[in-house]
Amino acid sequence: MKKHPIVIAIDGTSASGKSTNAKLAARALGYVYVDTGAMYRTLAWYCLVKHVDVNDEKAVANACRRWKTKLECAEVNGLRCVRLLTDDYFPEKEIRMPQTAAAVAQVAAVPKVREWMKKTQRDCIQFGDLVMEGRDIGTNVFPETDYKFYLDATLAERTARRTADGVNENLAARDQRDSQRAVAPLMIALGAKVINNSSMTSEQTSALLMEEIRKMMAAEKR
Ligand code: C5P
Repeated sequence: MKKHPIVIAIDGTSASGKSTNAKLAARALGYVYVDTGAMYRTLAWYCLVKHVDVNDEKAVANACRRWKTKLECAEVNGLRCVRLLTDDYFPEKEIRMPQTAAAVAQVAAVPKVREWMKKTQRDCIQFGDLVMEGRDIGTNVFPETDYKFYLDATLAERTARRTADGVNENLAARDQRDSQRAVAPLMIALGAKVINNSSMTSEQTSALLMEEIRKMMAAEKR
């Protein structure tokens, strides 16, 4: 029996192919795509705009409390995506800027922020079946889901991928902050299918992911 709605959780390190594969899976299944990293990035951007010191936990928690947001489900290039708006605006370009990337892991380590994000991310279920990517979806946001994946690749490979995209970023520093924070750190969820795609092409990774999802779905029907 299909449990409604289904949430496919795709966690993993930075530049491990989560976004590409989560989008592909959402398209193939007709599910709604949710990029939770974009939500944390949006808060980091908001803090920067409001001159909030991202290293000051209390100040970030206060900013999060004051933050005026709305969830929307928009169709972007034929894919249904959840977006978190700030005063009705989605800062698509701003959240990819180096300053935002450098501030996001600090903001994401604040317990009050994680509490707020978990609630908001769980609210996304109102839009239907989801493919949700992040760092703590299988461990913390939707621990009850049977569909858990953890994507990874070597640091050298992930850095090379970002460089090829024209992004120069210290991934090791962000991964370290994400793995060592006290609340909901990046880790492999119990029962997650781990896909290390260091020596796989993007096509091989998505084929394996889809094969695993279909197997899990078939097992659920039995
Ligand atoms: O996936 P992306 O690189 O956009 O994530 C940006 C940052 O947001 C991560 O490095 C992490 O600090 C934070 N994040 C998180 N939990 C999630 C998603 C993202 O802490 N579920």
